[in-house]
Amino acid sequence: MSDCLFCKIINNEIPSTKIYEDEKVLAFNDINPQSPVHILIIPKKHITSMNDFDETNIDILSHIFLVIKSIAKDKGLKEKGYRIVNNCGEQGGQTVDHIHFHLLGGRNMYWPPG
Ligand code: 5GP
Ligand code: ZN
Repeated sequence: MSDCLFCKIINNEIPSTKIYEDEKVLAFNDINPQSPVHILIIPKKHITSMNDFDETNIDILSHIFLVIKSIAKDKGLKEKGYRIVNNCGEQGGQTVDHIHFHLLGGRNMYWPPG
């Protein structure tokens, strides 16, 4: 999508600090980190939100979660733990309409989230 912020990051039209990339997925540092490690993991295919997953594209979700697990290990988060967040829709707090998973770590997390 030409007007999508994260599609522009995928296409290098907007710079980002990339952590991992393959043919299906990109991971990059969040511009406004909420913890010492705060990485966004996104599919390269434009998918708006969790609401748009179905049997035709669900394979990307399992791939994303394996990538998240691998990045968490690389960042030294495996032992102490980490949090994976997906904000979906307006009340879920989603501000960028290209699905993304937040990987947060490096500090104690709290519950319930805000
Ligand atoms: P959401 O609120 O939709 O779950 O998360 C969107 C995330 O994207 C926020 O954590 C925000 O800091 C991040 N973000 C917004 N614009 C940019 C940008 O231009 N570059 C990067 N790296 N992150 C961004
Ligand atoms: Zn997009």
